[in-house]
Amino acid sequence: MRIVIIGAGVAGCVMARRLALLGGVEVTCLERVSRDDHSEAGTGLNVGPNAVKALSLIDPDLTDRITEGSFFWRNWRISLTDGTVLFDLPLTRVAEGPGWRIRWSELYRILRDAAEPHISYGCEITHVGRDSADPRKTSIAWTQNGLERRLDGIDLLIAGDGRYSSVRRTISGEPGVRHAGVAIFRVLVPDTSGGLIDDYEQWFNGPNRLLAFRVPPGHVYIAGSFPIAPEAPITDGMKAPGVLRAAYTPPGAPPSDQARWMIDVICRNSTETHWARMQEHDVQYRAADCNVLYLGDAAHGMVPTLGQGATQALEDAATAATLITKRYNSGSRDIGGWLKEFEALRQDRMRFVMEFSLDATDTMLAGADPVEGTGHKNEAPFQNRLKALYRDVGLPSQETAP
Ligand SMILES: Cc1cc2nc3c(=O)[nH]c(=O)nc-3n(C[C@H](O)[C@H](O)[C@H](O)COP(=O)(O)OP(=O)(O)OC[C@H]3O[C@@H](n4cnc5c(N)ncnc54)[C@H](O)[C@@H]3O)c2cc1C
Repeated sequence: MRIVIIGAGVAGCVMARRLALLGGVEVTCLERVSRDDHSEAGTGLNVGPNAVKALSLIDPDLTDRITEGSFFWRNWRISLTDGTVLFDLPLTRVAEGPGWRIRWSELYRILRDAAEPHISYGCEITHVGRDSADPRKTSIAWTQNGLERRLDGIDLLIAGDGRYSSVRRTISGEPGVRHAGVAIFRVLVPDTSGGLIDDYEQWFNGPNRLLAFRVPPGHVYIAGSFPIAPEAPITDGMKAPGVLRAAYTPPGAPPSDQARWMIDVICRNSTETHWARMQEHDVQYRAADCNVLYLGDAAHGMVPTLGQGATQALEDAATAATLITKRYNSGSRDIGGWLKEFEALRQDRMRFVMEFSLDATDTMLAGADPVEGTGHKNEAPFQNRLKALYRDVGLPSQETAP
């Protein structure tokens, strides 16, 4: 059986590593960038306890390697930028274990090392399409080091090529996109806070929000956000240091020591920050009429409010790898059937995660009152949804195999 994975990101690496263990399966993972290119190096990730749980069920060794490159995420605090604490949640109340705090570049390094030797780097895809001999199969062509390469008769094509997945666009068309009306920026800086910043925290001034946590080795990740009109561009004026300082400085009181440090850092590093608009894409896990599986951001771009992007890419990959391994090892070669089964396992879960992420964005929208909104996050309905988010990963290993 021939399986091709496009993209050696979060989902792609986990799939390449697990599927390569299947006897008689040829696994090829094609990655566009070079081995050490980390275009998102200036980012830290908080990865949810649900991903730690899902990955540890299928790959304890890889889980340990990520743990070694991370700090645990054990607590979530929300305050105002004047220091008033609104919400202080040890994750043990809603999850079975901690999450991770890690540099994006470090996560990629660990995942790519773990998926060697199945990844080919520097591959520029030039063609993706249905195979001429069997329309359920696919063909792919690419160039690497100036050479043209091609694979036909692909039994299963897995798109792990991220938010702007060209495989999904080519095979299934453009996904619908919705803007949440929030601008976000991020910066990763050496930790000069003198211990002010450690575990995951958020600070509000009106709907304008700062978020920060410490990641190894010796860095702090800061992300800021503020409302904008949905679809509106982020202008240079919005990025000016004076405007950012005003956005996060509380009106009637001095900023807390934490807020003051972060505001100074983002103003000093305003030319280094990466900017984006919060948006989500329609969910689609498989092509309608051929054996193509979409995983991670290729299947579902979501708003980052609950830190579930990489988290769900890991959950997707853990579920898909478990299911494919079970079905393959039990003798099934009905790949279309595997993909339908995977979709049935993941679709409702993903709708829940995306909806919850969007609902949790309420305090970041224009006109929001973070005190009232965060108050609701202390109540049972929100915390019960968090429990479902962090605990109910629903891997097929938890059900009886047919
Ligand atoms: C600023 C920011 C902060 C974030 N914070 C968090 C967070 O705190 N927690 C969290 O869980 N998530 C977070 N996310 C989201 C998270 O990073 C993504 O959801 C996650 O990386 C998706 O994983 P993936 O495997 O789907 O794709 P990716 O990890 O994006 O990997 C896609 C891979 O495909 C490759 N590729 C793309 N196109 C091609 C092509 N044509 N041919 C070959 N290869 C290709 C890319 O180079 C890349 O290696 C954040 C995202 C951003 C932008």
